[in-house]
Amino acid sequence: MASRPSIAELKELADAGDARAIRRVDDWERNFADVYSGDFSEVCLDENCVAYGEPVNVCCDENGNLLEIDHGTWSHPVAGRMSLAS
Ligand SMILES: [Zn+2]
Repeated sequence: MASRPSIAELKELADAGDARAIRRVDDWERNFADVYSGDFSEVCLDENCVAYGEPVNVCCDENGNLLEIDHGTWSHPVAGRMSLAS
């Protein structure tokens, strides 16, 4: 209990389905999204999105599965199938 778990450890817990870890990873990604990603090289292809067609970052897990569409100041989960522009 002495040290906080690292983000890598949290992600392992999150992958294992730990709800608290998932929430903390989400928080971390919100706080640091502009650090670890962010060239806005993709385009939002979610037809239900109000910002459809705008440049976005696409967050994927380590297996390349789409997780989240990041519009910079806000983001939303990937809805259904969405192909990447690149
Ligand atoms: Zn969108």
